[in-house]
Amino acid sequence: MCLMRGKETAVTCDSCGRKVPRNKAVVFEKAISFSTELHNVNDVRFFERRKVYYCISCAKHRGIFEKKKEMALRSKKY
Ligand SMILES: [Zn+2]
Repeated sequence: MCLMRGKETAVTCDSCGRKVPRNKAVVFEKAISFSTELHNVNDVRFFERRKVYYCISCAKHRGIFEKKKEMALRSKKY
């Protein structure tokens, strides 16, 4: 058995709990802001980022792919 470094890592899908190979999993960054002042974006200090992994079927089901597309388009436009 040959274990390639870091290639065989499996992550757990946050939705269905299945173990998915990391290169096939969809990474989704949840951003949770705790600040109540949403007017001033620069003032948001309590900002937590959580990386969540989903399997492909769950990602499709949750529409993460579309969101990623939207984000990509936005960043390209910007
Ligand atoms: Zn899943």
